[in-house]
Amino acid sequence: MTSTLTTTAGAALNLGTARELVCRECGSSTPLAAEFACAECFGPLEVGYDFEPVTRADIESGPPSIWRYRKLLPVPDDVDEHPNTQPGLTRLLRADRLAHALGLRRVWIKDDTGNPTHSFKDRVVAVALAAARQLGFRVLACPSTGNLANAVAAAAARAGWESVVLIPASLERAKVLTTAVYDGALVAVDGTYDDVNRLATELAAEHDDWAFVNVNVRPYYAEGSKTLGYEVAEQLGWRLPDQVVVPIASGSQLTKVDKGFRELIELGLVQAAPYRVFGAQATGCAPVSAAFKSGHDVVAPVRPDTIARSLAIGAPADGPYALDVVRRTGGAIEDVTDTEVVDGIRLLARTEGVFAETAGGVTVACAKKLAECGQLDPDAETVLFITGDGLKTLDAVENHVGPRATVPPTTKAVRDALRS
Ligand SMILES: *Cc1c(COP(=O)(O)O)cnc(C)c1O
Ligand SMILES: [Zn+2]
Repeated sequence: MTSTLTTTAGAALNLGTARELVCRECGSSTPLAAEFACAECFGPLEVGYDFEPVTRADIESGPPSIWRYRKLLPVPDDVDEHPNTQPGLTRLLRADRLAHALGLRRVWIKDDTGNPTHSFKDRVVAVALAAARQLGFRVLACPSTGNLANAVAAAAARAGWESVVLIPASLERAKVLTTAVYDGALVAVDGTYDDVNRLATELAAEHDDWAFVNVNVRPYYAEGSKTLGYEVAEQLGWRLPDQVVVPIASGSQLTKVDKGFRELIELGLVQAAPYRVFGAQATGCAPVSAAFKSGHDVVAPVRPDTIARSLAIGAPADGPYALDVVRRTGGAIEDVTDTEVVDGIRLLARTEGVFAETAGGVTVACAKKLAECGQLDPDAETVLFITGDGLKTLDAVENHVGPRATVPPTTKAVRDALRS
């Protein structure tokens, strides 16, 4: 392992205020590099910083994207001058009609369907690409459950990089097409996501100029999820919500929303206040929820079987850390059946005019369950993370919604149809 702060090409490595990589298990630190596992104990590495003082005004006068938080991310200060997809600063919608349906007083939707490729993955990929550029990579790659494939292929296209994207062959048609259109190298693999992920780890070892965003540059990639926490706090007028419900695939997003909140407190950008983090999974792939409910620290892998394919990671890398966050903050983790997922998608659409993909259905349906059993405080302010667009998973609702009738072009026929 190298210890110099330079790229393989010898150029100075500029990753902003990022200082080192720190092992989340044993706490030992290592210089910034394309490493993801601790050399001492194989634990996952996380970016550590030397933050400079930053004010709300600094952030508010920044670009209308995640780059307004660039001083809190492992990216150079001029990051926005390189071609990038400019994700983030998505809508935070007050959701009174949904709140009423859930029996909660005040609910907000963090609507990440508005990102460039319509999911929260544009955030993490933009940060991974910026860091990968500094680390001397030339190709952007990933194993993906779908949304990451879209985001990597699009970000690479815009940056003029080659991309290599590996997906399970069973992926939704829409997610295959919305990746292939960017014309990178897309390969469908006969196997589950966990098979594809293992393959990516092997390929990363063979190709040292391929940045697998969620494998060999994962510590940088993961930091992109902090921006969800930053944005929610900024959009609430620089304060933290009381409780948040976050979907769990690998568990990374959930842990980083918490990290984002803690950093804002540490930097004095928000007042310290208790908040509770809740996790949401689909019952057909609920290893973290199962561990939570049985009081275990170990997350036993499962074989996924759910329509919520974007969350279908049977062996979630950050599962134990997600459990820690939920337990430390006094939250809970729930899981819902595929029928409830579809109901969740339809409830959100009907009450708020927001069409979410299956992961959003999972979040809404879990929020409903958590509210019904009294785990979510009805009087507390709640933020639901809606992380992907329903147009990507049309197959989930295809057999549940449609026109009331097909009628001849007469007013009588329309009237009759409306009456039925
Ligand atoms: C990837 C993904 C998530 C969660 O990702 P983590 O691996 O837990 O960080 C949530 N929602 C959608 C739509 C996703 O694509
Ligand atoms: Zn370690």
